[in-house]
Amino acid sequence: MRPAAPHRLLLSSLCLALCCLGGARGSRRSDNHEWKKLIMVHHWPVTVCKEVENDCRDPPDYWTIHGLWPDKAEECNGSWHFHLEEIKDLMPEMKMYWPDVIHPLNHSHFWKHEWEKHGTCAAQLDALNSQKKYFGGSLDLYRDLDLNSMLQKLGIKPSINYYQVSDIKDALAGIYGVIPKIQCLPPQQGEEVQTIGQIELCFTKELRLRNCTEPGEPGGPGGPAPRRPRTGVSGDTGLEVCEDGPAFYPPPPGAVP
Ligand code: 5GP
Repeated sequence: MRPAAPHRLLLSSLCLALCCLGGARGSRRSDNHEWKKLIMVHHWPVTVCKEVENDCRDPPDYWTIHGLWPDKAEECNGSWHFHLEEIKDLMPEMKMYWPDVIHPLNHSHFWKHEWEKHGTCAAQLDALNSQKKYFGGSLDLYRDLDLNSMLQKLGIKPSINYYQVSDIKDALAGIYGVIPKIQCLPPQQGEEVQTIGQIELCFTKELRLRNCTEPGEPGGPGGPAPRRPRTGVSGDTGLEVCEDGPAFYPPPPGAVP
């Protein structure tokens, strides 16, 4: 049945308005590459493997780099393609500290993805304005933060016993002097608690440590619940800001906890 004429008019106006709105939103997403902070994202390889339900033979038993991400900006220059040869000097360290945990036999797709999605935006900073500087600078920050040693020093080790998320967060805040963000996989079917997946530490554009979340921000002290709807779209890792409460920090397969 066709709608009556006034309704048709109303429907067309609604469609036009929605199209304009969609278009405006689309252009804002692609054109606005303003960002304020850089996020050094460490991930726990055991959880990465669990998340993608990939066997990941022998995942590293230390926190590795997922990426160095500007907040609020992605894919800032589609014509700035990734060239592996530009980072060949960094290769041994890249393989060690920035491995593709999911495809350990071919890391370069992961590095290409990180460059195109995040590096092209981080490259607005003089300190990171080439592939060599972006990947080399990220490795420098990772080394300086030395998260693996800090966690060891704090006695926070993979374990079959659960940790309180606030204890880990407070302990790291005590070490670094800024508020980190901790991301978890929500409990899967049959699981009691969430699983720790990522630890993020944030930097200013001057590459000085700063809080990742502020009081009142989602995931920050006193902020609203951080939960976001699952979209299932590519880039949605399934990780969410950890709920306050117990969390599992899973030991590598075969490790004696
Ligand atoms: P982003 O796209 O923002 O860099 O990160 C999210 C995506 O990275 C998700 O699709 C997640 O599954 C993927 N991811 C996380 N860790 C790894 C990894 O070690 N290797 C690969 N290939 N993808 C990863």
